[in-house]
Amino acid sequence: MAPPTVQFCRQTANVFLHVLTRCNLRCRHCYINPEQHGRSRLPIRRIERWLGLLADRSPGANLVLLGGEPTLHPDLARAVRAARRLGYGSVTIDTNGYLFHDILEKLSPAEVDVFSFSLDGATAATNDRLRGRGSFDACIDGIRRARAKGFHTSLITTVSSANVAELAAMGPLLEELGIERFFIQVLGLRGKAARSGCGPGGSELARVRASAWGVQVPAAAAAIARRGIRVIYPKVFLEPGEKFECAGLVADNYFVFPNGRVYRCPLCEDYPLHSLAFEGGRLAQRPKLNEKDLFRLEIPEGCVMHQLIQPGPAAPAGRPAPRIACCLLKQEREPG
Ligand code: SF4
Ligand code: SF4
Repeated sequence: MAPPTVQFCRQTANVFLHVLTRCNLRCRHCYINPEQHGRSRLPIRRIERWLGLLADRSPGANLVLLGGEPTLHPDLARAVRAARRLGYGSVTIDTNGYLFHDILEKLSPAEVDVFSFSLDGATAATNDRLRGRGSFDACIDGIRRARAKGFHTSLITTVSSANVAELAAMGPLLEELGIERFFIQVLGLRGKAARSGCGPGGSELARVRASAWGVQVPAAAAAIARRGIRVIYPKVFLEPGEKFECAGLVADNYFVFPNGRVYRCPLCEDYPLHSLAFEGGRLAQRPKLNEKDLFRLEIPEGCVMHQLIQPGPAAPAGRPAPRIACCLLKQEREPG
């Protein structure tokens, strides 16, 4: 049986705050785009102000602190404490595992809900080819140190043609490390991956085709869930007759960058299409045209941004192309 789709919910807001764009790694699929989002590090005062404005607008939101590598920010622990004071529902730190500035010493499991690590293979050979030499060992070491301090941990793998075959082998590693949630994400149409042409046939690092995605990812997710780990992965392709929904209209997400741009759709992040911006101490609506004007466009292909960025059928020739779901729509495989 197919795992349930996680429906969008307007009542649960999510804030993804990029506290800087700098990173110590150079992953081949990195979605960060300094031309669009700047190279600056947000001063802590500004982080606190922006978190306050977002908390006023969406009380109890879930906060994800990310970068670049967010632990390169010397005031990350202060940002976490500010979020707690402001009543954020949960605080997650996304990290590549290097855990700079002794962040595990500065925070406690009562302050951070989850450290979410990024790893793109079950072996150093596969992961390091995508994320850089030594990054596998550093990440594994970071997970072990976080677990030893009592932090909850999750792990994110970006799946492409370069590592999809290794997905099933992630199970034993995740179990041994004590990872509680495993997030599979599809290779993005953003940042470096988009610029190097990662569409079908575009480059060595390609997105997984619909036919392979529909078989390999659910099978690996089911096997990993049987090890007692919750697995969340993007829907990507809608079933025939399944309702299409755009998160820009039916959810409450904020993707915030250090230059003040605030997007409601992650696929828009490579373009100056943000619908909100921090300007003069407030969160201001942006004039037309922006991403909001795209959300209402209904097209047979599904997500309008996907069609604009990567037009063309995703299915093998001779079969109808499946509708492309919102990139934020997920399926969840319960443990057990
Ligand atoms: S994907 Fe993440 S860890 Fe890799 S270079 Fe980009 S910001 Fe750094
Ligand atoms: S990915 Fe597509 S469907 Fe989802 S929010 Fe963006 S435009 Fe809307």
